[in-house]
Amino acid sequence: MLPTLLWRCPICKTHDALTHEPRRFRPDLIRCRACQARWELKRVVGGPDFRLRLLDDKGPGEERGGVPPPFLAEWYDRMMAGLALTPIAHPAWPVAGVSAPNEELYLHSPQVRVLADAENPIFTTANAAPAPPSLGPLGTRPLGAGQLLFTSQRLLCLLAPPPAAGMGASPAAPAAPAEAAPTPPGAAQAPRALSLPWGELTSADTLTDAAFVTIFGERLYGFLLKEQSPLKWLAYARLMAERLDPAVQRRLHLGYV
Ligand SMILES: [Zn+2]
Repeated sequence: MLPTLLWRCPICKTHDALTHEPRRFRPDLIRCRACQARWELKRVVGGPDFRLRLLDDKGPGEERGGVPPPFLAEWYDRMMAGLALTPIAHPAWPVAGVSAPNEELYLHSPQVRVLADAENPIFTTANAAPAPPSLGPLGTRPLGAGQLLFTSQRLLCLLAPPPAAGMGASPAAPAAPAEAAPTPPGAAQAPRALSLPWGELTSADTLTDAAFVTIFGERLYGFLLKEQSPLKWLAYARLMAERLDPAVQRRLHLGYV
C-alpha cells in the first residue's frame, strides 16, 4: 500500500495521514486526512513508476499548481532527502522515572502490539500474555500492548500493565531489556518500560507492511504499528545509525528503505 512507502504528505508534511483507496475501472485514490488533498494514482505506461495527479479539493479534474512532484519515485526521493531527526513535543514525553536528562523524542506511536521470541526469559519475569495455541511470525508470542517511542538514546516501549496482574520482577537474563523501577505493592500500576538502546541493537528491519522488528541481546522484539508506516521507523533508525560509533554501526544490520 502506498501510505506505507510514502508516510509523509508532500503538501502539509503530516506523517501517516495518507490513505489509499483502490477503485475498480478508475485510478486509485490517495487522500490526506490532514489537509484533504487528493491524488489519482496511475502506473506510468511502459515504466515502473507511478504518476500522481493532484485533484482540486473542490472536485476531480482541476489540478492544483505545481506543489508536489508528479511521479512517485520523485516524491519518495524528496521525502527521504528531507528526513532529519528533529525533536518533537508530545504529552507522553518526558516519562517520569524513565526519560534521561537531555533525551529527545523523535517519533511516537500511541498504540503498538509487542511480540517477542517465545523463548525470551522476559515471559517468565514480566507477566506476559498467556501463550497462544500457535506461535506468531518468526516464533513469537505477544508480550503486550503499549506506546512505542523513538528517542535520541533508544527505542522505548511503554507496555500497559496486564489486566489483574501485578508488576513483574526485573528480568533474570542480562539479554532482557531494562525495565522501569517496579511499582510498590498497592500502588497504581505504571507502564513497564522496555528499553532498547540504539548502541546495543544488532538489527532493525520491517516485516510485512505493519511490523518494525529489532534484535537486542540476541532476542527478537517486534512492534506491530497501528496506522504508522514501519518503513518510517526503519528510515529513522538509519539516521540514528549514522550517529553511532562506526564500530557499533558495523554490527547493526538495517533493512533496506
Ligand atoms: Zn496533507
